[in-house]
Amino acid sequence: MITLKGIKKTYENKAGRFEALKEVNLAIQKGEIFGFVGYSGAGKSTLLRLINGLEHPTEGTVELDDKVLSELDKKAIRKERQSIGMIFQHFNLLWSRTVLENVMFPLEIAKVSKTERNRKANELIQLVGLAGKENSYPAQLSGGEKQRVGIARALANDPKVLLSDEATSALDPQTTDEVLDLLERINRELDVTIILITHEMEVVRKICHRVAVMDSGVIVEAGSVLDVFRHP
Ligand code: ADP
Ligand code: ADP
Repeated sequence: MITLKGIKKTYENKAGRFEALKEVNLAIQKGEIFGFVGYSGAGKSTLLRLINGLEHPTEGTVELDDKVLSELDKKAIRKERQSIGMIFQHFNLLWSRTVLENVMFPLEIAKVSKTERNRKANELIQLVGLAGKENSYPAQLSGGEKQRVGIARALANDPKVLLSDEATSALDPQTTDEVLDLLERINRELDVTIILITHEMEVVRKICHRVAVMDSGVIVEAGSVLDVFRHP
């Protein structure tokens, strides 16, 4: 479903050239929960930005269902990006808007009718276990609840893929487990492929089917979680 072929990403600035990704080749299958794990600076966020079409690789291609992202025009990329949901470490919610308004926001952008926006947002709020909090503001919610709003918002346009950027890194262990359980249920019940990046091995061990370990812009090891984390 997502194929990374010969990916290189070089940043150039005053400080010089920096190879954030040196050579990445990988295929992620539909229905998988795939994790990228590695220390800070390994290139995980860069890879995520390439997968959601925010940036293009310096060399190589990102293919989404056989479409090469960098060959699409702006309008087509925008359309592809609507089939990708994203959640973040610091939630990225709109602080002056309620839970319901936050979840409706991507539907507004997609020009969905008001009635349908309401219906869809309420359905998603139920799904993530926030019924009763529709009119709360993010500041009134716990960290776990904020991330549930982020997840509901990410699902608003029925994405095929959900990208998670350190989504549990700001949460305590128990809340992390609850959010991971929710992601697992979304993967299973809504058939959403999940790609996550994290520096926490436990997150990978708990929900990923396959994992790639990254270091200094390359994948140093990849395979099933059992294989990669089995130490002889
Ligand atoms: P990770 O997500 O694994 O922490 P990143 O993908 O954020 O790693 O970063 C990989 C490397 O690329 C880092 O050394 C970072 O400083 C560098 N980098 C990321 N984005 C840019 C940018 N826009 N310009 C210059 N260097 C960047
Ligand atoms: P809207 O665009 O719907 O008015 P905003 O996103 O502008 O809502 O929210 C108001 C401001 O709150 C923004 O400038 C946002 O950056 C800021 N903000 C960001 N993070 C936090 C936070 N953790 N707590 C409170 N406000 C925050």
